[in-house]
Amino acid sequence: MSATLDTNTAVKPIHHWIGGEIYQGQSGRSGAVYNPATGQQTGEVAFATIEEIDHAVQTAKAASAAWRATSLGRRAELFFKIRELFHAHREDIAKLLTAEHGKVLSDAMGEVTRGLEVIEFCCGLPTLLKGSMSEQVSNGVDVYSLRQPLGVVAGITPFNFPAMVPMWMWAPALATGNTFVLKPSEKDPSASLLTAELLKEAGVPDGVFNVIHGDKVAVDALLEHPDIAAVSFVGSTPIAKYVYETATSRGKRCQALGGAKNHMIVLPDADIDMAADAAISAAYGSAGERCMAISMVVAVGGVADELVTAIKSRIPGVKVGNGMDPTSEMGPLVTREHRDKVASYVERAGGEGATVVVDGRESAPAGDGFFLAPSLIDHVKPGMANYDDEIFGPVLGVTRVDTYEQAVGLVNSNPFGNGVAIFTRDGGAARQFQFDILAGMVGINVPIPVPVAYYSFGGWKASLFGDRHIYGPEGIDFYTRSKVVTSRWPDPATSKIDLGFPQTR
Ligand code: NAD
Repeated sequence: MSATLDTNTAVKPIHHWIGGEIYQGQSGRSGAVYNPATGQQTGEVAFATIEEIDHAVQTAKAASAAWRATSLGRRAELFFKIRELFHAHREDIAKLLTAEHGKVLSDAMGEVTRGLEVIEFCCGLPTLLKGSMSEQVSNGVDVYSLRQPLGVVAGITPFNFPAMVPMWMWAPALATGNTFVLKPSEKDPSASLLTAELLKEAGVPDGVFNVIHGDKVAVDALLEHPDIAAVSFVGSTPIAKYVYETATSRGKRCQALGGAKNHMIVLPDADIDMAADAAISAAYGSAGERCMAISMVVAVGGVADELVTAIKSRIPGVKVGNGMDPTSEMGPLVTREHRDKVASYVERAGGEGATVVVDGRESAPAGDGFFLAPSLIDHVKPGMANYDDEIFGPVLGVTRVDTYEQAVGLVNSNPFGNGVAIFTRDGGAARQFQFDILAGMVGINVPIPVPVAYYSFGGWKASLFGDRHIYGPEGIDFYTRSKVVTSRWPDPATSKIDLGFPQTR
């Protein structure tokens, strides 16, 4: 059994992975990892020093020349093997996610499956890396374009998708011929080590994929490192902004995806039962710890009372419990501190002038786990912390407006622009909505519109810093740079000096 899957040790040490093997950190600094369902500490993750980061980057750099020279056919073959191994081990990965993040196992399996889709997209890498060619642009002159890797690239990832978000990064980065250093969230780091073991088993050469754990020290060392060509980041907006500004000021390419406040607009003609089912699923799935979770329902016209009643009536049916229990539908939050922070929004809602319809603190499972049951808050308005902040937990707000225009105005004036959804039976209204709305990912009667792997994922406004979205065609673009070659093979006998600017006609 792999060391990563060994759960016999009470508190397992979690090390780095450099050059195709476990690397024991020497910093003396580390962080606790918990099972959120029990509240027990299960791991102690090493935090890297600046020197250890440099070692990982130098290792990736040393592996770079051979990896970018590996033929497209061989790299594609490896990706098919990677796909098979991750598919075969999807339950092992999912169990690690449940053990450290807390999400229920079925949801963790869904995370792995959506990540696998990105790996499958990358199996087509020979096609994805095709350039273009124009013959005879001038007499005897041809022009063609190539896509080449950047070198060593880094990924810095959040706690809420410990397997899938790294896959969004390492899969296209490796497929396009880069070597990679991953700095996963220190809250649930084990999935990244199983990823490393599976990539090695698939035949990915040592040094091509490396994992270093840590906190701000590790992140800053990556952002400062002169041999890192590009940084992909996914996390909260303040850190995304900081990462983008720091990386780009050091001359690196950067895509930094930030937080969200996703609205679900319900028009008066919507099917209320369908909208209520969707709101429950999208607000409380994964305990609301999804950047695409719906956190605000916008009830338009007269639908609010009926909609709030329909959502409220469904909440007692949501089974909250340990994610390893197959009957659980919603697990705990990731840490005690985060659970308490989320609960504080419910606490202050009344004082802000909102109405607490369901208080999730009252029905959370007993014990030491970091549980909070679903909460529903009505009459939430801009200016209230419950509206303005990304709560990132199972707290659904409802705001009431009179018109479609007011609903669109709310979304468009919000600083975030990640996902948004509209529920309606009017095709014309939906089409107008997709035209009007300022957000990167739009759902029409779809509450969580995460794009499939052959489109790209990304928000607008404070939900993304950078100009390229992640995975899909824009991911391939992000991890490559184009080179245009102009060539001719003339007869040397025709050679002459010409100081004029080259002409094509
Ligand atoms: P976070 O910003 O706290 O952490 C993300 C990463 O940054 C982690 O690896 C962490 O170690 C590192 N980090 C934390 N503080 C840092 C600092 N001061 N300096 C440098 N690095 C630092 O985010 P999180 O709590 O792990 O994840 C939740 C957030 O991620 C939410 O805001 C959510 O919306 C967002 N998210 C966004 C997307 C998206 O696609 N837009 C996807 C998933 C999660």
